[in-house]
Amino acid sequence: MIDSLFTLYCEDCEVEGRPSRLWVRAEIDLATSRGPETQHYLECMNCGFRFKSCMEDHMEAVDDEEWQRFVNESPPSLPSAR
Ligand SMILES: [Zn+2]
Repeated sequence: MIDSLFTLYCEDCEVEGRPSRLWVRAEIDLATSRGPETQHYLECMNCGFRFKSCMEDHMEAVDDEEWQRFVNESPPSLPSAR
């Protein structure tokens, strides 16, 4: 189901030579001019960078406001979150 996501990587970690470990935090269904798309909100478990992906090879950074709007399903209440 999320196979295509494994082709994505965190650019910051890639530059540093660290292996990317991306965590899918949310999946949002979008209606675009090209038809329905699933947008994934991803978090890098190494550096905490947050971004979203529309297509397999495209991603962009997500600011805090947008992140909380879509990913707020599970508040960071886990003791081991950081
Ligand atoms: Zn990273």
